[in-house]
Amino acid sequence: MKMSRISGLYRLSASDRLKIVAENSGLSGDEVEAMKTGGITLDQADKMVENVLGLFAVPLGVATNFVIDGREVLIPMATEEPSVIAAASNGARMAIAGGGFVTSTTQPVMRALIQVTGVEDPYGARQAILARAEEIAGRANERDPMLVSHGGGVVGLEAEVVASKRGPMVVVHLLVDCRDAMGANAVNTMAEALAPFIEEITGGRVYLRIISNLADLRIARARAVFLAEEIGGPEVVDAIVMASALAEVDPYRAATHNKGIMNGVTAVTMATGNDTRAIEAGAHSYAARGGAYRSLSVYEKNRDGDLVGSIELPAAVGTVGGATRVHPGARANLKVMGIICADDLGRVLASVGLAQNFAALRALATEGIQRGHMSLHARNVAVQAGAIGDEIESVASKMAAERRINVDRAKELLRDGR
Ligand code: NAD
Repeated sequence: MKMSRISGLYRLSASDRLKIVAENSGLSGDEVEAMKTGGITLDQADKMVENVLGLFAVPLGVATNFVIDGREVLIPMATEEPSVIAAASNGARMAIAGGGFVTSTTQPVMRALIQVTGVEDPYGARQAILARAEEIAGRANERDPMLVSHGGGVVGLEAEVVASKRGPMVVVHLLVDCRDAMGANAVNTMAEALAPFIEEITGGRVYLRIISNLADLRIARARAVFLAEEIGGPEVVDAIVMASALAEVDPYRAATHNKGIMNGVTAVTMATGNDTRAIEAGAHSYAARGGAYRSLSVYEKNRDGDLVGSIELPAAVGTVGGATRVHPGARANLKVMGIICADDLGRVLASVGLAQNFAALRALATEGIQRGHMSLHARNVAVQAGAIGDEIESVASKMAAERRINVDRAKELLRDGR
């Protein structure tokens, strides 16, 4: 049984919620334990990074109501920010009546960049490289037979002459289908192995040989129709279209618009053990690919007066490699989403980004962002002021009602109540 529409989940205790999600996803006892405790032991952490001292915990929640390409998906999200998970669930719920999220993806192709310097005839060198494309691909593929056996490997070669303050350089892009891997290690290994051969072909000197995080060939897209009557009427549709129009042209607005998208995208990336920095570098550089920084999503009004949201972003994530397989919590979270390949995960990222973005825009267009955000934030402030047990909710709700949420006020309310 896979369901994402679980009403009232927020009213249950954390352990009851986990029980429902575990039953829904067929999680084993170990997987449940991994979700509950953060997933890794100190010993495991010690093998993952250097100079380990301990573990740093971030809350793991689950977003509900997602219907993606007709499939109900529960979405684990790791985030320290209040209201993100509630907003994603809310945005996803409002997409249901219009059919949920419809996604598409490109092939999982990443670019490895090789910088060739010191050539007298860069245009000639460029052609010399392109003429040996097949040999270059063969040599690169030899470095990763496992990837090739999974249907991946080199799918193309590009070379351009780039002007720089240190003179012209030839920049070679090796295009590699990374299948279910994020691919950084895979393509870096290939690029490093090719460097001497490229030097031999060009007579130049290779410096950089590394992945580009601008993964513009590995794109995930999602769109959804939000029916006007579901989201608060035609005025809300117009307000969101107006907000989108600004984010499409103004980098100051686009930065915050995209930050809202990444609230969801990064939380899922983190929960699956993927590289959040790679995803963020990819998203923001893609947003600036036309020379000006702009929004990753667009909202329009269709013929029926409903809101159509669409998003497109690079999805350099894997279900093998990096920490994805060694982190038991990451594996459990992939299982909760029913994800078996990297392509599925890219579709989820795009859908979550759109739901998150829509929810924020709708809040901005209606009651403003602070109301929902601050009532959750109020609980944290109450705890900071020393509230315990039932005091937390009571102080938080008083502060939220007064719209005065700060530690001093929380302390006053605590004093009055004790
Ligand atoms: P990886 O090398 O651990 O795993 C990828 C390998 O898994 C492939 O090369 C292939 O040999 C094998 N494999 C097995 N089954 C596969 C399948 N179904 N599809 C594809 N490959 C399969 O990891 P990676 O994905 O190459 O690199 C990811 C890691 O690199 C992350 O930890 C990331 O943080 C790190 N990294 C990132 C950057 C960057 O983004 N700039 C730079 C360096 C390292």
